[in-house]
Amino acid sequence: MAALLTLNAGSSSLKFSLWPDGVTRGAGGQVEQLGGAARLVFDGGDGEEAREIGPVDHAGALEVILDALAPALAGRRVSGVGHRIVHGGADRRGPARLTAEVVAELEALAPFAPLHQPHNLAGLRAARAVFPDAVQVGAFDTAFHRGHPWVNDTFALPREYYEAGVRRYGFHGLSYEYIAGVLAAEAPELHAGRVIVCHLGNGASMCALKGGRSVGSTMGFSALDGLPMGTRCGQIDPGVLLYLMDRRGMSAGEITALLYRESGLKGLSGITSDMRTLEASDDPRAGEAIDYFVFRLSREIGAMAAVLGGLDGLVFTGGIGENSALIRARAVERLGFLGLAVDEAANAARAREIGAGPVRILRVETDEESVIAAAVRAEV
Ligand code: ADP
Repeated sequence: MAALLTLNAGSSSLKFSLWPDGVTRGAGGQVEQLGGAARLVFDGGDGEEAREIGPVDHAGALEVILDALAPALAGRRVSGVGHRIVHGGADRRGPARLTAEVVAELEALAPFAPLHQPHNLAGLRAARAVFPDAVQVGAFDTAFHRGHPWVNDTFALPREYYEAGVRRYGFHGLSYEYIAGVLAAEAPELHAGRVIVCHLGNGASMCALKGGRSVGSTMGFSALDGLPMGTRCGQIDPGVLLYLMDRRGMSAGEITALLYRESGLKGLSGITSDMRTLEASDDPRAGEAIDYFVFRLSREIGAMAAVLGGLDGLVFTGGIGENSALIRARAVERLGFLGLAVDEAANAARAREIGAGPVRILRVETDEESVIAAAVRAEV
């Protein structure tokens, strides 16, 4: 099989992985700080190396990436490119070939995800220009959740808003799809049962899985709802936004900046959005930011257990979920009544199974790229 490339284009970075034989992951990395003093971080298999590359846009970044990949490609053709795309709309339940018609639909969804969708599509345009003959495939963060029940899809607004697309989409779907696959392979009885997955990174959300399918997510219309995150607020009373607009005269742009970039762990601590740094700090505000994160995590686990009508398993993933024994332990510390308890030694040892109660608790490293690669493989 010819080579495949997977891309994850954000506002300031372009992440990539090469699959030289279409199946095995090869070199990867990212171009960071797009539009500014960009750097290429490249891992060809012997650890990461970084170098400055000067200002580039998505297209320029892809040229740099291709140069870096040339030795690994060794003349092989790239026959398919997979793109992580945040929004697939109300009806798309799986990946799609990015034909002109599909791309037009995805462009029309940009107002629903203005901070992500345009950049995802810029990555697609760059890849089209460089690989005009390759199959381009989109894998959507919303698709995994689209089968969830109506009560979890709607807000209590007049019906016309639902029809116009104001729905609870849920995100991080590629990560949840990967985790569901791991459960199917390693713990089929859990896969068949009721599981809550906590994807805790800079962005954080939770998904309720029943029989391997999403029946609920803490993220809603946007990637702001639910858990507090690195810089995003999580659940907030809409009355706060009305007050900010009406009484403080804040514009939509100012509120967007506040909710997406200045809130969450960063806003609460006044120090940083980075959980590892907060854990290492002895500033009381760092401790309070962690307290709030843990409180909301426990609260949402309780809510998701109710959505599922009981619980068979809990999975932690994402940078915080995979690496922070403290957060894993504290998240369930008051949830013994649900059958959740952490085995301290297994938790500290980063074991796969870290539960000590009747409900299994797992630590799983997520791999969204492999889900995108599988989507492309199915199309080439
Ligand atoms: P993204 O959502 O951008 O992909 P990640 O999944 O990489 O982010 O998660 C980043 C978060 O994981 C940061 O808050 C970081 O501090 C946290 N993290 C990584 N390693 C650790 C660790 N050992 N202990 C606590 N937090 C960690």
